Amino acid sequence: MIRGALLACLLLAACASPAPVPARAEPTAAGTPPVIPSPLITPAPLPPAGVTPRPAGAFDQLFDAHIHYSQDAWSEYTPAQTIAILRRAGIRTALVSSTPDTGTQRLYALAPDLVVPMLRPYRTRDDIGGWTRDGTVVAYVESTYRRGVHQGIGEFHLLQGEASLPVVRRIVDLAVRESIWLHAHADERAIAELARSEPRAKILWAHAGLSSSAAAVKAVLDQHLNVAAELALRSDVANGPAIDPAWREVFTRHPGRVLLGTDTWIPSRWEDVVAGHERTRQWLRALPPEVAAQIASGNGERLFRTPH
Ligand SMILES: [Zn+2]
Repeated sequence: MIRGALLACLLLAACASPAPVPARAEPTAAGTPPVIPSPLITPAPLPPAGVTPRPAGAFDQLFDAHIHYSQDAWSEYTPAQTIAILRRAGIRTALVSSTPDTGTQRLYALAPDLVVPMLRPYRTRDDIGGWTRDGTVVAYVESTYRRGVHQGIGEFHLLQGEASLPVVRRIVDLAVRESIWLHAHADERAIAELARSEPRAKILWAHAGLSSSAAAVKAVLDQHLNVAAELALRSDVANGPAIDPAWREVFTRHPGRVLLGTDTWIPSRWEDVVAGHERTRQWLRALPPEVAAQIASGNGERLFRTPH
């Protein structure tokens, strides 16, 4: 009863939300890049004046938006070993998904404080290429989804032209109904189609398109206010502490919509989780502290941990 009322509330609120409008920059102090607001993905509250809760530059409480514990990793790493790696990497919270969902549930059972479960629409690796045209995937997702546990559906792969397919629409509808996220691996054209197809959908763009240029990422974030991007496997962001200028512009223009990520898509990637985030910290320290704090953990905690 209460849950039903809450859901109705959420739906009403969602329906009442204004459709995203063309991005308009808010006026800022001279010389500061404009920040683009999003009606769906709320801006971070300003910290109370004079309060610095953690030493600046430590980044020992990261939010990692792209971790998998899929079947091929189970024989190489126990759940306890993977949780130990995540903690050693200074990850406070991780979005975890797996093929099949069992791997995610094992980690969640062991560390519910750390793991935020996401539900992949894949039962085996064979689903990756054909899930968008396989109606049985909908039944798998609907029967596996756990309200209050899974905070999103994904990571899934989406090609240009697939956002309108019936199976994809069913998955998008479920996410909107439940007010959870869609974690999509797609290029800039496919992500734009998905974002446009349902302005109420909250979309986390995996790898920020993987091979999309920083300029293309900026354009997507400018134009689609229901999209946030995570940086798994984006080695082009920085060389040591030297941040690529085009990426710096993305971060300072959209500080509230960029997250970190690793992507343990094959077992060997677990070997790089700790070292990878040491590299991440190098370039985070080269950003304005308030921008770095949001990307390091603030955005993830706000978007995925705040009750919705
Ligand atoms: Zn992945």
